[in-house]
Amino acid sequence: MDLYEYQGKELFRRFGIPVSEGRLATTPQEARAAAEEFGGEVVVKAQVLTGGRGKAGGIKLAESPADAEAKAHDILGLDIRGHVVRKLWIERASEIAKEYYVSLTFDRGEKKPLYMLTTEGGVDIEEVAERNPDAIARLHVDPLEGFQPYQGRRLIYGAGIEDESEQKQVLDIVGKLYACFVACDAMLCEINPLIVTPEGHVRALDSKFTVDDNALFRHADIAEMRDLSAYPVEERKAREKGVTYVKLDGDVGVLGNGAGLTMSTVDVVTFVGGRPANFCDLGGGGSAQGVVDALEVITADPQVRSILFNIFGGITRCDEVARGILEALEQLGLEQPIVVRLDGTNAEEARGILEEAAPPNVHPEATMLDAARRAVELAA
Ligand code: GDP
Ligand code: MN
Repeated sequence: MDLYEYQGKELFRRFGIPVSEGRLATTPQEARAAAEEFGGEVVVKAQVLTGGRGKAGGIKLAESPADAEAKAHDILGLDIRGHVVRKLWIERASEIAKEYYVSLTFDRGEKKPLYMLTTEGGVDIEEVAERNPDAIARLHVDPLEGFQPYQGRRLIYGAGIEDESEQKQVLDIVGKLYACFVACDAMLCEINPLIVTPEGHVRALDSKFTVDDNALFRHADIAEMRDLSAYPVEERKAREKGVTYVKLDGDVGVLGNGAGLTMSTVDVVTFVGGRPANFCDLGGGGSAQGVVDALEVITADPQVRSILFNIFGGITRCDEVARGILEALEQLGLEQPIVVRLDGTNAEEARGILEEAAPPNVHPEATMLDAARRAVELAA
């Protein structure tokens, strides 16, 4: 789960990492009120779950409350790479002398958290990695030993931070970042830029924060930060109904049972020249209600023009799936063509059920390949 900048900064603040004071605003008036409260210059920041907001015009300095209101008016509603701005973070503006970068990610290859620190912050880290890879100090932390101060010093010398006061402050932040990362079950904590003010204060000016979804059950406060309005309607539905669903960008809705079969089905749709609209796994033991729920989720996506069912009955009984399809047709009034390929446990019975009801938009096929071809044809 990705957090907004202001949410990540709230977690940083709890762990003692210095951040600027700010307020959330959803209207230009609220932005003005926040600027009035702070007095002086503020920065108006689009809160969207994507980076590069500055370049996209989503971050603007404002010199007065009236200016903050005007800038808020400009930024609200802006589309930043598909993310519409609905919330702003109004922050006391900082003066910047230097921009550094620090992050902690989980390196799956090494099975360890990985630090990256560089004095070349403010820009994309990928760009620094390409142009000047030696400028980035990298260091893995053994999760059993935890973070040790000598590792912090190694990072700081590696990145070439020379000022003694900066060294002290960055060392402190780097240690707190590790505590925050571990305590929040984060997958990523990134500060870009980590600034040094003209007075020599080091502070986090941005935050990118990703928390492991599988650990959210033990972080009720973080789980609550999820902003459902930022998700497409079908993803909200999937979460609500407990359906395993991943949105893709094509027009053939794909429904299988078991992750392996469903992924193969996505591949076969692509193989015959189609474009899958999603990955949806019914799981084992799919009940009729499970099928109805899954179909409701898939068809909430307006891009779906045909649906491909690929079921191999093991624990899942094909007749139960067939009943689910008929029930969904009745309950949801689906009009999209549904191609059905069923095999395995009770497949005969399932085919009988579908043949008897013979809904006009259900098309049985005997093999996975034929079914995929048919679904792609019907989507065209
Ligand atoms: P991003 O573009 O999504 O990474 O958003 P950031 O929060 O990193 O902001 C982008 C850039 O805006 C930063 O790298 C800074 O150069 C600038 N910026 C952000 N906040 C301030 C501020 O308080 N004062 C000044 N002078 N510049 C800021
Ligand atoms: Mn940034």
